[in-house]
Amino acid sequence: MRTKIFQLKENGEENEEFLRQAGECLKEGGLVAFPTETVYGLGGDALNPESSRKIYAAKGRPSDNPLIVHICRLEDLWQVASEVPPEAERIAEAFWPGPLTMILPKADRVPRETTGGLDTVAVRFPSHPAARRLIEYAGGFVAAPSANASGRPSPTEARYVQEDMEGRIDMILDGGPVGIGLESTIVDLTVRPPQILRPGFVTQDMLAQLLGQVDLDVTILRDDSGQAPKAPGMKYRHYAPKGDLTIVSGPAQKVVDYINEKASFYAARGEKVGIIGTEESLGRYRADSVKCAGSRTDEESIGRRLYRILREFDDEDVTRIYSEAFSAGGYGQAIMNRLLKAAGHKIVYLEESHT
Ligand code: AMP
Ligand code: MG
Repeated sequence: MRTKIFQLKENGEENEEFLRQAGECLKEGGLVAFPTETVYGLGGDALNPESSRKIYAAKGRPSDNPLIVHICRLEDLWQVASEVPPEAERIAEAFWPGPLTMILPKADRVPRETTGGLDTVAVRFPSHPAARRLIEYAGGFVAAPSANASGRPSPTEARYVQEDMEGRIDMILDGGPVGIGLESTIVDLTVRPPQILRPGFVTQDMLAQLLGQVDLDVTILRDDSGQAPKAPGMKYRHYAPKGDLTIVSGPAQKVVDYINEKASFYAARGEKVGIIGTEESLGRYRADSVKCAGSRTDEESIGRRLYRILREFDDEDVTRIYSEAFSAGGYGQAIMNRLLKAAGHKIVYLEESHT
């Protein structure tokens, strides 16, 4: 299959004709990768079981790992969910359109191919203007997981979609780099209290302010071995970089010293070492490949760059990677969740020295 690649933006305006063509392609059962505010999605018609099968095949994703159904009008929530509790309406009012996915009981019209065999459905109403118009042209319901090959980081730019999906899907809509860079928050509303299955840009605090108690699945910031997975996606091996990744947590100077010591140790053994630092620390590191995740004063910048950095280390054949740790609260929860998964939960805690 030849994959058509369309540049969406022309003179700052999104090309309506490309969006219309892509919508037609989805209606006919084709697959289209498109930008959203979180990461690039790999879309198919959510109500067509054959399209969902094709998504799993293109990604190499196990077919019991369900897809998120994307809508472009709030009222369509009632078309795909059989029950919409008051909490869901309040969440929608506060955070939709936006980077948040809700789990609800599914309506009959949503095929089990789309929900990975489950009786629940994941629904999101994205805010990205091109994504919304594409969904509208496609008939209103687009199933879309992230547009990476299974086991790779979610794509934050069209060129990464191309790397993973060229020849496997009909079209890629290039809308430039995404704004957020980490996947949507997933909140399960079929349990009481509601439970976050995946942290994201909409944080636990933001949801708790709205709803009172909101729990976090225990596996999110801890090792998940031995725990029964809540979201089907949690049971599959997550993306791990080719290099062996360790996170280092502790006082700033101690972290720098520890990482530099390890870097020179492995460099002396002929290994290629990569470091993920921040603007605050970058100049103090010595290694083959030192990358800046962003500024500690701006966690959004870190979320935006994380997946690109991990892909770059793979391309550079780095064999050892050390990363600074980030705060475990607020948006840091989402960043640390992705980093911990990539590291297979390998983290070193350094103590404050008491001299
Ligand atoms: P992706 O968009 O590639 O990050 O994948 C979608 C994520 O949503 C996966 O982690 C799924 O396991 C999760 N998901 C989708 N539908 C459901 C559902 N009905 N219940 C729980 N998790 C879901
Ligand atoms: Mg994904």
